[in-house]
Amino acid sequence: MARSEGSIFKLCFLCSVIANLFFGVNLYVGRRGVGRWKWSSDEVNVQGLSWSGRAAAEAESAAARECSGHGRAFLDGAVADGRPACECNTCYGGPDCSLFLPSCSANADGGDPLFLEPFWKQHAESSAVVVAGWHRMSYSFSDQTFLSQELESLLRKLHSQVGNAITDDKYILFGAGSTQLLNAAVHALSHLNSSFPASAVASIPYYALYQMQTEFFDSADCSFQGDPAHWKNATNTTGDIIEFVTAPNNPNGQLNEAILHGPNVKTIHDRAYYWPHFTGIPSPADEDLTIFTISKLTGHAGSRFGWAFIRNEEVYQRMNTFLQLNTMGVSRDTQLRAMKLLKVIIEDGGREIFKFGYKTMTKRWDRLRKTLSMSNRFSLQKIAPENCTYFQKVREPTPAYAWVKCEREEDRNCIEILNAAKILGRGGSIFHDDDRYARLSLIRSNDDFDLLISRLESLVSGEDGAKIM
Ligand code: PMP
Repeated sequence: MARSEGSIFKLCFLCSVIANLFFGVNLYVGRRGVGRWKWSSDEVNVQGLSWSGRAAAEAESAAARECSGHGRAFLDGAVADGRPACECNTCYGGPDCSLFLPSCSANADGGDPLFLEPFWKQHAESSAVVVAGWHRMSYSFSDQTFLSQELESLLRKLHSQVGNAITDDKYILFGAGSTQLLNAAVHALSHLNSSFPASAVASIPYYALYQMQTEFFDSADCSFQGDPAHWKNATNTTGDIIEFVTAPNNPNGQLNEAILHGPNVKTIHDRAYYWPHFTGIPSPADEDLTIFTISKLTGHAGSRFGWAFIRNEEVYQRMNTFLQLNTMGVSRDTQLRAMKLLKVIIEDGGREIFKFGYKTMTKRWDRLRKTLSMSNRFSLQKIAPENCTYFQKVREPTPAYAWVKCEREEDRNCIEILNAAKILGRGGSIFHDDDRYARLSLIRSNDDFDLLISRLESLVSGEDGAKIM
Protein backbone atom coordinates (compact mmCIF):
# COMPACT_ATOMS: atom_id res chain seq x y z
CA MET A 1 0.00 0.00 0.00
CA ALA A 2 2.72 2.37 1.07
CA ARG A 3 4.56 1.40 -2.09
CA SER A 4 1.63 2.17 -4.39
CA GLU A 5 1.06 5.56 -2.68
CA GLY A 6 4.72 6.33 -3.37
CA SER A 7 4.29 5.37 -7.03
CA ILE A 8 1.19 7.56 -7.38
CA PHE A 9 3.11 10.44 -5.83
CA LYS A 10 6.02 9.89 -8.25
CA LEU A 11 3.61 9.69 -11.20
CA CYS A 12 1.87 12.94 -10.18
CA PHE A 13 5.22 14.64 -9.76
CA LEU A 14 6.30 13.48 -13.23
CA CYS A 15 2.99 14.70 -14.75
CA SER A 16 3.42 18.07 -13.13
CA VAL A 17 7.01 18.38 -14.46
CA ILE A 18 5.81 17.46 -17.98
CA ALA A 19 2.90 19.92 -17.78
CA ASN A 20 5.19 22.69 -16.58
CA LEU A 21 7.67 21.93 -19.32
CA PHE A 22 4.89 21.91 -21.91
CA PHE A 23 3.40 25.25 -20.82
CA GLY A 24 6.82 26.79 -20.31
CA VAL A 25 7.98 25.85 -23.80
CA ASN A 26 4.67 27.02 -25.24
CA LEU A 27 5.05 30.37 -23.53
CA TYR A 28 8.60 30.71 -24.80
CA VAL A 29 7.75 29.68 -28.36
CA GLY A 30 4.70 31.93 -28.24
CA ARG A 31 6.92 34.90 -27.50
CA ARG A 32 9.21 34.13 -30.39
CA GLY A 33 7.04 35.27 -33.24
CA VAL A 34 3.88 37.20 -33.91
CA GLY A 35 1.31 35.00 -35.55
CA ARG A 36 2.99 31.69 -34.68
CA TRP A 37 1.14 31.40 -31.45
CA LYS A 38 -1.73 33.80 -31.10
CA TRP A 39 -1.95 35.66 -27.84
CA SER A 40 -4.90 37.36 -26.43
CA SER A 41 -5.24 38.43 -22.83
CA ASP A 42 -8.10 35.94 -22.44
CA GLU A 43 -6.04 32.99 -23.71
CA VAL A 44 -3.01 33.64 -21.56
CA ASN A 45 -3.00 33.32 -17.84
CA VAL A 46 -1.10 36.55 -17.30
CA GLN A 47 -1.16 36.20 -13.51
CA GLY A 48 1.85 33.93 -13.44
CA LEU A 49 4.03 36.29 -15.47
CA SER A 50 6.46 38.96 -14.29
CA TRP A 51 5.68 42.63 -15.06
CA SER A 52 7.67 42.42 -18.29
CA GLY A 53 5.96 39.14 -19.23
CA ARG A 54 2.55 40.76 -18.72
CA ALA A 55 3.64 43.80 -20.77
CA ALA A 56 4.89 41.47 -23.50
CA ALA A 57 1.62 39.51 -23.46
CA GLU A 58 -0.35 42.73 -23.83
CA ALA A 59 1.87 43.98 -26.69
CA GLU A 60 1.77 40.63 -28.42
CA SER A 61 -1.99 40.41 -28.14
CA ALA A 62 -2.31 43.66 -30.13
CA ALA A 63 0.43 42.68 -32.59
CA ALA A 64 -1.14 39.27 -33.22
CA ARG A 65 -4.32 40.78 -34.67
CA GLU A 66 -3.97 40.04 -38.34
CA CYS A 67 -6.61 42.47 -39.64
CA SER A 68 -6.97 40.32 -42.79
CA GLY A 69 -3.48 41.35 -43.90
CA HIS A 70 -4.80 44.85 -44.73
CA GLY A 71 -4.25 46.65 -41.45
CA ARG A 72 -2.79 46.44 -37.98
CA ALA A 73 -3.82 46.97 -34.36
CA PHE A 74 -1.86 49.03 -31.87
CA LEU A 75 -1.91 49.16 -28.07
CA ASP A 76 -2.49 52.93 -28.16
CA GLY A 77 -5.22 52.77 -30.81
CA ALA A 78 -9.00 52.71 -30.45
CA VAL A 79 -10.52 49.78 -28.56
CA ALA A 80 -13.38 47.68 -29.96
CA ASP A 81 -14.98 44.78 -28.06
CA GLY A 82 -12.38 45.16 -25.34
CA ARG A 83 -9.37 44.71 -27.59
CA PRO A 84 -7.28 46.98 -29.84
CA ALA A 85 -9.23 47.74 -33.01
CA CYS A 86 -7.83 47.19 -36.51
CA GLU A 87 -6.54 50.30 -38.29
CA CYS A 88 -7.00 49.55 -41.98
CA ASN A 89 -4.77 50.39 -44.94
CA THR A 90 -6.11 52.94 -47.40
CA CYS A 91 -8.97 51.49 -49.44
CA TYR A 92 -9.78 48.77 -46.89
CA GLY A 93 -12.46 48.90 -44.19
CA GLY A 94 -14.66 46.86 -41.87
CA PRO A 95 -13.85 45.70 -38.34
CA ASP A 96 -11.17 43.30 -39.64
CA CYS A 97 -10.12 45.33 -42.73
CA SER A 98 -11.39 42.62 -45.07
CA LEU A 99 -13.61 45.01 -47.03
CA PHE A 100 -12.04 46.44 -50.21
CA LEU A 101 -13.45 49.88 -51.08
CA PRO A 102 -13.47 49.79 -54.87
CA SER A 103 -14.11 53.46 -55.56
CA CYS A 104 -11.28 54.66 -53.32
CA SER A 105 -8.20 56.40 -54.79
CA ALA A 106 -4.79 54.69 -54.72
CA ASN A 107 -2.58 56.58 -52.29
CA ALA A 108 0.84 57.40 -53.75
CA ASP A 109 1.09 60.65 -51.86
CA GLY A 110 3.27 61.15 -48.70
CA GLY A 111 6.57 59.39 -48.04
CA ASP A 112 5.35 56.97 -45.35
CA PRO A 113 7.98 54.21 -45.60
CA LEU A 114 5.75 51.22 -44.79
CA PHE A 115 7.52 49.09 -47.42
CA LEU A 116 9.82 47.95 -44.58
CA GLU A 117 7.00 46.81 -42.27
CA PRO A 118 7.24 43.13 -43.39
CA PHE A 119 10.95 43.15 -42.50
CA TRP A 120 10.17 44.19 -38.92
CA LYS A 121 7.41 41.57 -38.65
CA GLN A 122 10.05 38.97 -39.53
CA HIS A 123 12.21 40.39 -36.71
CA ALA A 124 9.48 40.78 -34.11
CA GLU A 125 11.53 39.47 -31.22
CA SER A 126 14.87 41.17 -31.78
CA SER A 127 13.30 44.57 -32.50
CA ALA A 128 10.77 44.63 -29.64
CA VAL A 129 11.41 47.02 -26.74
CA VAL A 130 10.13 46.68 -23.20
CA VAL A 131 9.97 50.07 -21.50
CA ALA A 132 9.73 50.05 -17.71
CA GLY A 133 7.52 52.70 -16.10
CA TRP A 134 10.61 54.33 -14.60
CA HIS A 135 12.78 54.19 -17.73
CA ARG A 136 14.98 57.34 -17.96
CA MET A 137 12.65 59.77 -16.28
CA SER A 138 15.35 62.45 -16.02
CA TYR A 139 15.78 65.35 -18.41
CA SER A 140 19.32 64.21 -19.15
CA PHE A 141 21.53 61.13 -19.23
CA SER A 142 23.89 60.63 -16.29
CA ASP A 143 26.69 62.38 -18.21
CA GLN A 144 24.38 65.45 -18.32
CA THR A 145 23.92 65.21 -22.11
CA PHE A 146 20.73 64.54 -24.06
CA LEU A 147 22.35 61.85 -26.18
CA SER A 148 22.67 58.13 -25.58
CA GLN A 149 26.36 57.26 -25.98
CA GLU A 150 25.43 53.73 -26.99
CA LEU A 151 23.17 55.00 -29.75
CA GLU A 152 25.88 57.37 -30.96
CA SER A 153 28.43 54.56 -31.25
CA LEU A 154 25.91 52.32 -33.05
CA LEU A 155 25.23 55.08 -35.59
CA ARG A 156 28.95 55.57 -36.27
CA LYS A 157 29.36 51.79 -36.62
CA LEU A 158 26.42 51.55 -39.04
CA HIS A 159 27.87 54.24 -41.31
CA SER A 160 31.21 52.49 -41.39
CA GLN A 161 29.50 49.17 -42.26
CA VAL A 162 27.42 50.73 -45.04
CA GLY A 163 30.21 53.03 -46.23
CA ASN A 164 27.83 55.95 -46.79
CA ALA A 165 29.42 58.51 -44.43
CA ILE A 166 32.76 59.28 -42.86
CA THR A 167 32.04 60.07 -39.23
CA ASP A 168 35.55 60.37 -37.76
CA ASP A 169 36.38 63.77 -36.31
CA LYS A 170 32.78 64.93 -36.66
CA TYR A 171 30.39 66.05 -33.97
CA ILE A 172 27.02 64.34 -33.81
CA LEU A 173 23.62 65.70 -32.79
CA PHE A 174 20.21 64.03 -32.55
CA GLY A 175 16.96 65.67 -33.60
CA ALA A 176 13.22 65.01 -33.60
CA GLY A 177 13.43 63.70 -37.16
CA SER A 178 15.67 65.37 -39.72
CA THR A 179 12.92 68.02 -39.88
CA GLN A 180 14.13 69.55 -36.61
CA LEU A 181 17.80 69.26 -37.60
CA LEU A 182 17.20 71.08 -40.90
CA ASN A 183 15.75 73.95 -38.91
CA ALA A 184 18.64 73.89 -36.43
CA ALA A 185 21.15 73.88 -39.30
CA VAL A 186 19.60 76.92 -40.98
CA HIS A 187 19.73 78.74 -37.65
CA ALA A 188 23.36 77.73 -37.08
CA LEU A 189 24.55 78.75 -40.53
CA SER A 190 22.74 82.10 -40.64
CA HIS A 191 24.82 85.03 -39.45
CA LEU A 192 27.84 82.78 -39.07
CA ASN A 193 30.40 85.04 -40.71
CA SER A 194 28.33 87.92 -41.95
CA SER A 195 26.19 90.50 -40.19
CA PHE A 196 23.79 90.47 -43.16
CA PRO A 197 20.87 88.04 -43.39
CA ALA A 198 21.62 84.77 -45.19
CA SER A 199 19.82 83.46 -48.29
CA ALA A 200 18.72 79.82 -48.43
CA VAL A 201 18.56 78.12 -51.84
CA ALA A 202 17.76 74.65 -53.26
CA SER A 203 17.88 73.28 -56.82
CA ILE A 204 14.50 72.81 -58.50
CA PRO A 205 12.79 70.41 -58.06
CA TYR A 206 13.28 70.57 -54.28
CA TYR A 207 11.67 69.17 -51.13
CA ALA A 208 9.05 71.78 -50.17
CA LEU A 209 9.82 71.71 -46.45
CA TYR A 210 13.06 73.71 -46.90
CA GLN A 211 11.16 76.74 -48.12
CA MET A 212 8.11 76.23 -45.89
CA GLN A 213 10.22 76.00 -42.75
CA THR A 214 12.42 79.00 -43.59
CA GLU A 215 9.38 81.13 -44.42
CA PHE A 216 7.16 79.93 -41.59
CA PHE A 217 9.73 80.65 -38.89
CA ASP A 218 10.26 84.01 -40.63
CA SER A 219 13.65 84.67 -39.13
CA ALA A 220 15.32 88.04 -39.63
CA ASP A 221 18.53 86.04 -40.18
CA CYS A 222 17.58 84.06 -43.28
CA SER A 223 15.17 84.20 -46.21
CA PHE A 224 14.42 81.60 -48.88
CA GLN A 225 15.57 82.66 -52.36
CA GLY A 226 14.71 79.69 -54.62
CA ASP A 227 17.04 78.05 -57.13
CA PRO A 228 20.82 78.45 -56.72
CA ALA A 229 21.28 78.84 -60.50
CA HIS A 230 20.38 82.56 -60.12
CA TRP A 231 23.27 82.99 -57.69
CA LYS A 232 25.92 81.15 -59.65
CA ASN A 233 27.61 84.24 -61.05
CA ALA A 234 26.78 86.55 -58.16
CA THR A 235 30.21 87.42 -56.78
CA ASN A 236 29.36 90.27 -54.42
CA THR A 237 26.47 88.92 -52.36
CA THR A 238 26.37 90.63 -49.01
CA GLY A 239 25.15 87.80 -46.77
CA ASP A 240 25.98 84.11 -46.62
CA ILE A 241 24.23 81.64 -48.90
CA ILE A 242 22.93 78.38 -47.47
CA GLU A 243 22.45 75.71 -50.13
CA PHE A 244 20.33 72.64 -49.39
CA VAL A 245 21.80 69.71 -51.33
CA THR A 246 19.55 66.65 -51.35
CA ALA A 247 21.21 63.42 -52.46
CA PRO A 248 19.32 61.36 -53.54
CA ASN A 249 16.87 64.12 -54.28
CA ASN A 250 13.23 64.17 -53.25
CA PRO A 251 11.32 64.10 -55.66
CA ASN A 252 13.41 62.83 -58.60
CA GLY A 253 16.05 60.56 -57.00
CA GLN A 254 19.08 62.31 -58.58
CA LEU A 255 22.31 62.32 -56.59
CA ASN A 256 22.51 66.12 -56.46
CA GLU A 257 25.75 67.94 -55.86
CA ALA A 258 26.34 71.47 -54.60
CA ILE A 259 25.94 74.13 -57.29
CA LEU A 260 27.50 77.02 -55.38
CA HIS A 261 31.02 77.24 -54.00
CA GLY A 262 32.99 79.97 -52.28
CA PRO A 263 33.81 81.43 -48.90
CA ASN A 264 30.29 82.74 -48.25
CA VAL A 265 28.53 79.50 -49.27
CA LYS A 266 27.46 76.97 -46.62
CA THR A 267 25.83 73.67 -47.53
CA ILE A 268 23.36 71.45 -45.74
CA HIS A 269 23.54 67.94 -47.19
CA ASP A 270 20.24 66.16 -46.71
CA ARG A 271 21.03 62.44 -47.02
CA ALA A 272 17.64 61.05 -45.96
CA TYR A 273 17.67 58.58 -48.88
CA TYR A 274 21.40 57.75 -49.05
CA TRP A 275 20.89 54.08 -48.18
CA PRO A 276 21.23 50.94 -50.33
CA HIS A 277 17.42 50.52 -50.51
CA PHE A 278 17.29 53.48 -52.87
CA THR A 279 20.65 54.15 -54.50
CA GLY A 280 24.12 52.85 -55.16
CA ILE A 281 26.60 54.17 -52.61
CA PRO A 282 29.45 55.40 -54.81
CA SER A 283 31.50 56.82 -51.92
CA PRO A 284 31.07 57.85 -48.29
CA ALA A 285 29.65 61.33 -47.70
CA ASP A 286 32.27 63.56 -46.12
CA GLU A 287 30.63 66.95 -45.92
CA ASP A 288 30.70 69.81 -43.41
CA LEU A 289 27.08 69.23 -42.38
CA THR A 290 25.21 66.04 -43.28
CA ILE A 291 21.77 65.05 -42.02
CA PHE A 292 20.30 61.53 -41.89
CA THR A 293 16.99 60.17 -40.64
CA ILE A 294 15.74 56.86 -39.32
CA SER A 295 12.48 57.46 -41.25
CA LYS A 296 13.86 56.23 -44.59
CA LEU A 297 16.49 53.87 -43.15
CA THR A 298 14.32 51.60 -40.97
CA GLY A 299 10.90 53.00 -41.95
CA HIS A 300 10.14 54.32 -38.43
CA ALA A 301 9.00 57.79 -39.46
CA GLY A 302 6.67 57.90 -36.44
CA SER A 303 9.56 57.65 -33.98
CA ARG A 304 10.85 61.07 -35.11
CA PHE A 305 14.58 60.49 -35.01
CA GLY A 306 17.33 62.03 -37.11
CA TRP A 307 21.04 62.74 -36.66
CA ALA A 308 23.55 65.19 -38.06
CA PHE A 309 27.34 65.02 -38.51
CA ILE A 310 29.01 68.39 -38.20
CA ARG A 311 32.65 69.23 -38.88
CA ASN A 312 32.89 72.73 -37.45
CA GLU A 313 32.70 73.21 -33.69
CA GLU A 314 30.99 76.59 -33.82
CA VAL A 315 28.25 75.28 -36.12
CA TYR A 316 27.82 72.29 -33.80
CA GLN A 317 27.49 74.56 -30.74
CA ARG A 318 24.93 76.77 -32.46
CA MET A 319 22.85 73.78 -33.56
CA ASN A 320 23.11 72.31 -30.07
CA THR A 321 21.83 75.53 -28.51
CA PHE A 322 18.89 75.52 -30.93
CA LEU A 323 18.01 71.91 -30.03
CA GLN A 324 18.32 72.53 -26.30
CA LEU A 325 16.09 75.58 -26.38
CA ASN A 326 13.65 73.97 -28.80
CA THR A 327 12.98 70.54 -27.25
CA MET A 328 15.80 69.79 -24.75
CA GLY A 329 16.92 66.93 -26.93
CA VAL A 330 15.20 63.90 -28.36
CA SER A 331 12.78 61.76 -26.33
CA ARG A 332 14.73 59.15 -24.37
CA ASP A 333 12.05 56.56 -25.30
CA THR A 334 12.73 57.26 -28.97
CA GLN A 335 16.47 56.88 -28.43
CA LEU A 336 15.90 53.48 -26.79
CA ARG A 337 13.76 52.37 -29.73
CA ALA A 338 16.29 53.63 -32.29
CA MET A 339 19.06 51.79 -30.44
CA LYS A 340 17.14 48.53 -30.53
CA LEU A 341 16.37 48.85 -34.25
CA LEU A 342 19.97 49.72 -35.11
CA LYS A 343 21.23 46.70 -33.19
CA VAL A 344 19.13 44.45 -35.43
CA ILE A 345 20.59 46.08 -38.55
CA ILE A 346 24.18 46.11 -37.37
CA GLU A 347 24.16 42.50 -36.27
CA ASP A 348 24.76 41.27 -39.82
CA GLY A 349 26.30 44.46 -41.24
CA GLY A 350 22.90 45.53 -42.66
CA ARG A 351 22.85 42.62 -45.12
CA GLU A 352 19.30 41.47 -44.40
CA ILE A 353 17.54 44.82 -44.25
CA PHE A 354 19.28 46.31 -47.29
CA LYS A 355 18.76 43.12 -49.30
CA PHE A 356 15.08 43.22 -48.35
CA GLY A 357 14.73 46.95 -49.10
CA TYR A 358 16.61 46.80 -52.41
CA LYS A 359 14.70 43.70 -53.56
CA THR A 360 11.33 45.24 -52.66
CA MET A 361 12.16 48.51 -54.41
CA THR A 362 13.56 46.69 -57.48
CA LYS A 363 10.38 44.64 -57.83
CA ARG A 364 8.25 47.77 -57.50
CA TRP A 365 10.30 49.66 -60.10
CA ASP A 366 10.13 46.69 -62.50
CA ARG A 367 6.33 46.62 -62.22
CA LEU A 368 6.05 50.38 -62.64
CA ARG A 369 8.39 50.48 -65.66
CA LYS A 370 6.54 47.59 -67.28
CA THR A 371 3.18 49.31 -66.78
CA LEU A 372 4.32 52.68 -68.12
CA SER A 373 6.28 51.13 -71.01
CA MET A 374 2.86 50.61 -72.67
CA SER A 375 2.18 54.33 -72.48
CA ASN A 376 2.88 57.17 -74.91
CA ARG A 377 1.44 59.60 -72.43
CA PHE A 378 3.56 59.17 -69.29
CA SER A 379 7.32 58.88 -68.87
CA LEU A 380 9.60 58.28 -65.89
CA GLN A 381 12.81 60.01 -64.77
CA LYS A 382 16.05 58.51 -66.00
CA ILE A 383 18.88 58.07 -63.53
CA ALA A 384 22.23 56.62 -64.51
CA PRO A 385 23.30 53.34 -62.87
CA GLU A 386 25.64 53.86 -59.93
CA ASN A 387 28.53 51.88 -58.56
CA CYS A 388 27.49 50.57 -55.18
CA THR A 389 30.41 49.97 -52.83
CA TYR A 390 28.00 48.30 -50.39
CA PHE A 391 26.67 45.63 -52.79
CA GLN A 392 29.95 45.68 -54.72
CA LYS A 393 28.31 46.06 -58.11
CA VAL A 394 27.00 48.65 -60.53
CA ARG A 395 23.25 48.84 -59.98
CA GLU A 396 20.16 50.63 -61.22
CA PRO A 397 18.93 53.22 -58.72
CA THR A 398 15.60 52.36 -57.10
CA PRO A 399 14.44 55.75 -55.80
CA ALA A 400 11.69 56.25 -53.27
CA TYR A 401 9.58 58.26 -55.72
CA ALA A 402 8.62 58.11 -59.38
CA TRP A 403 8.88 61.53 -61.03
CA VAL A 404 6.30 61.12 -63.76
CA LYS A 405 6.07 63.45 -66.76
CA CYS A 406 2.89 63.93 -68.75
CA GLU A 407 4.17 64.07 -72.33
CA ARG A 408 1.09 65.24 -74.23
CA GLU A 409 1.02 68.95 -75.10
CA GLU A 410 -2.49 69.35 -73.68
CA ASP A 411 -1.70 67.52 -70.39
CA ARG A 412 -0.34 70.59 -68.61
CA ASN A 413 -1.42 69.47 -65.15
CA CYS A 414 -0.23 65.91 -64.64
CA ILE A 415 -1.53 65.45 -61.10
CA GLU A 416 -5.06 66.44 -62.20
CA ILE A 417 -4.95 63.69 -64.81
CA LEU A 418 -3.73 61.16 -62.27
CA ASN A 419 -6.30 62.30 -59.69
CA ALA A 420 -9.08 61.83 -62.25
CA ALA A 421 -7.84 58.24 -62.67
CA LYS A 422 -8.09 57.77 -58.87
CA ILE A 423 -4.41 58.13 -58.11
CA LEU A 424 -3.18 60.48 -55.39
CA GLY A 425 0.31 62.00 -55.63
CA ARG A 426 2.00 65.42 -55.59
CA GLY A 427 2.03 67.94 -58.41
CA GLY A 428 5.31 69.33 -59.75
CA SER A 429 4.61 72.87 -58.49
CA ILE A 430 4.83 71.63 -54.88
CA PHE A 431 8.52 71.05 -55.70
CA HIS A 432 8.67 74.39 -57.56
CA ASP A 433 8.84 72.62 -60.89
CA ASP A 434 6.43 72.40 -63.83
CA ASP A 435 3.00 70.86 -63.23
CA ARG A 436 3.72 68.57 -66.19
CA TYR A 437 5.47 66.52 -63.51
CA ALA A 438 3.95 64.62 -60.61
CA ARG A 439 5.54 62.63 -57.79
CA LEU A 440 4.27 59.15 -56.95
CA SER A 441 5.45 57.52 -53.73
CA LEU A 442 6.75 53.97 -54.12
CA ILE A 443 7.63 53.32 -50.48
CA ARG A 444 4.18 52.92 -48.99
CA SER A 445 2.48 49.62 -48.04
CA ASN A 446 2.12 46.69 -50.45
CA ASP A 447 -1.63 47.42 -50.63
CA ASP A 448 -1.02 51.03 -51.67
CA PHE A 449 1.51 50.00 -54.28
CA ASP A 450 -0.63 47.17 -55.72
CA LEU A 451 -3.57 49.53 -56.11
CA LEU A 452 -1.35 52.19 -57.70
CA ILE A 453 -0.21 49.70 -60.36
CA SER A 454 -3.76 48.53 -60.96
CA ARG A 455 -5.01 52.14 -61.44
CA LEU A 456 -2.07 52.97 -63.72
CA GLU A 457 -2.77 49.85 -65.81
CA SER A 458 -6.38 50.97 -66.31
CA LEU A 459 -5.27 54.51 -67.18
CA VAL A 460 -2.67 53.33 -69.69
CA SER A 461 -4.90 50.70 -71.31
CA GLY A 462 -7.52 53.42 -71.95
CA GLU A 463 -4.97 55.57 -73.82
CA ASP A 464 -5.43 56.22 -77.53
CA GLY A 465 -2.55 54.48 -79.21
CA ALA A 466 -1.33 52.66 -76.09
CA LYS A 467 1.40 50.21 -77.04
CA ILE A 468 0.44 46.56 -77.15
CA MET A 469 2.82 43.89 -75.92
N1 PMP B 1 14.46 65.38 -46.05
C1 PMP B 1 13.88 64.79 -47.10
C2 PMP B 1 14.53 64.92 -48.43
C3 PMP B 1 12.68 64.10 -46.94
O1 PMP B 1 12.09 63.54 -48.00
C4 PMP B 1 12.09 64.00 -45.66
C5 PMP B 1 10.81 63.24 -45.40
N2 PMP B 1 9.96 63.08 -46.41
C6 PMP B 1 12.73 64.65 -44.61
C7 PMP B 1 13.92 65.30 -44.82
C8 PMP B 1 12.13 64.65 -43.22
O2 PMP B 1 12.26 63.42 -42.62
P1 PMP B 1 12.06 63.18 -41.05
O3 PMP B 1 11.70 64.49 -40.40
O4 PMP B 1 11.00 62.15 -40.95
O5 PMP B 1 13.37 62.70 -40.57
